[in-house]
Amino acid sequence: MAKIIDGKKISAHLREKIADSARKLKSECGIVPGLAVIIVGSDPASAIYVRNKARACQDVGFYSEVHALPEETTQEDLLSLIGSLGKNDSIHGILVQLPLPSHLDEKAVIAAIPPEKDVDAFSEINAGRILLGHEGFSPCTPSGIIAMLEYEGITIDGKECVIIGRSNIVGKPMAMLLLRANGTVTVCHSHTKDIGSITKRADILVSAVGKSHFVTADMVKDGAVVIDVGINRGSDGKLTGDVDFEPVSKIVSAITPVPGGVGPMTITMLLRNTLTAAEYAKKTVDN
Ligand code: NAP
Repeated sequence: MAKIIDGKKISAHLREKIADSARKLKSECGIVPGLAVIIVGSDPASAIYVRNKARACQDVGFYSEVHALPEETTQEDLLSLIGSLGKNDSIHGILVQLPLPSHLDEKAVIAAIPPEKDVDAFSEINAGRILLGHEGFSPCTPSGIIAMLEYEGITIDGKECVIIGRSNIVGKPMAMLLLRANGTVTVCHSHTKDIGSITKRADILVSAVGKSHFVTADMVKDGAVVIDVGINRGSDGKLTGDVDFEPVSKIVSAITPVPGGVGPMTITMLLRNTLTAAEYAKKTVDN
């Protein structure tokens, strides 16, 4: 039976460290890391994500503010809010909850966030830094997966790593981070032929497709590590990942559950990026 990688436990451990660092930053420099979250419209799933992020900030002693804007918000008003938060010294991270209503230009909105406050790391500048291997924020889900592997003592160096999914927020940055850690990386997508023959080579398999039971036992190698990013809500309201958990967990050496695997790590990495942004702001003032 595989080891179940407990994202909640790892998150709790990392959040304690983040809270310690935040306390230190406050007592030594008077800086409280601050995160501003902007949500436009009333999508219920987005509202839950935003609430969870605000609560997580509170738990580690960060300042947070939520800007809940009506569906009909104009591009100009949204950019103006981002502009003022960009100049606000008590805000170190700015996050715009996606997706935005269709009349808003997502690309322009993300580009308006100053790169040093882009704690989701979705901007072209931060994406470019990841590609080039330069210092900067990493998107929260892929960096949370790296942190999980590190915590579990699972080495990436020299391993065959296969990712299913090539989105800008998960698949592509995941590939860059695994490559940076000296994995040999293959990325599969909806045009990939005979996907099972590729996933079966994987020492580390990351699935970010968004389809329940997509990864079946015949697609994984004995002893592989399987990371399930997918979040799928069944007709019974239950959450499942992409992986057919029961049969796959009998074959592999370690696996993340859904819920309780990658999900909690994503918010933890958001906290870590916000802390880093606050520490960076302090250094800028010092210099
Ligand atoms: P996305 O933008 O919809 O990307 C899905 C990817 O899966 C695409 O690259 C797509 O290929 C690929 N795909 C779809 N059908 C496929 C098939 N039959 N064979 C192979 N590849 C296929 O989704 P995302 O934003 O990356 O998210 C993926 C999943 O992770 C979703 O369930 C999402 O809710 C979840 N998620 C979880 C977290 C977390 O914190 N746990 C964070 C982010 C996302 P093409 O590019 O060819 O279309």
